[in-house]
Amino acid sequence: MKTIGLIGGMSWNSTNEYYRILNEAINQRLGGYHSAKIVMYSVDFAETYELKEEGKRDELVRLLIDAARRVEKGDADFLVMCTNTYHKYADEISRGINIPVLHIADAAAERILANGVKKVGLLGTRQTMEEDFYKGRLAEKHGLEVLVPEEPDRKLVDDVIFDELCFGKTPEKSKVEYRRIVNGLVEQGAEGIILGCTEIHMIVKPDDSPVPIFDTTRIHALKAVEMAIGK
Ligand code: GLU
Repeated sequence: MKTIGLIGGMSWNSTNEYYRILNEAINQRLGGYHSAKIVMYSVDFAETYELKEEGKRDELVRLLIDAARRVEKGDADFLVMCTNTYHKYADEISRGINIPVLHIADAAAERILANGVKKVGLLGTRQTMEEDFYKGRLAEKHGLEVLVPEEPDRKLVDDVIFDELCFGKTPEKSKVEYRRIVNGLVEQGAEGIILGCTEIHMIVKPDDSPVPIFDTTRIHALKAVEMAIGK
């Protein structure tokens, strides 16, 4: 079995879920007392959040590369960053280490295409919904058509992530709003919905959507299991 390397803590609520899925899935596959071999470096989320808000891009990238190197030094065979947003720097991080990075958008796209879905709605942080490192990769590398909510709904989706989900809060009012936004994307033609932020599974469940939900936390973790023990 290969050793899975994680950069966690963005936020720790979602890293929890990765840890659970990795161990459950390895145990389901291998049985007995088997569990996942994991090396994790968990950041202080406040540090990454503040660097992002202050626009200190280079420092943020240095922090993430440093985290990735710590994971590599722990003898991980490959790297899983437990966040969608910081895949913005995946290429730079990848160049800073000698183990492969399992890109969350590639894992998601593979699953989406395997389900015959071509047009997807995307929910995530503002950066994930608006910038090309994610949307662009899905479109250009994987040929998906990606729809995102209009303003002010993008602000709402982003605020809920940072003001509530990252603190483990899941108020009913936000569930209702997310459901409304999911339905709006479906009305525009989305055949599936990407939960493109590793906390969103906390408030959007498969039953909340008339079309398939693609939860990047689960998909990414299960792809890591496949890389660790084969198909
Ligand atoms: N976990 C989140 C994501 O998947 C957002 C938090 C962050 O890393 O900024 O994008």
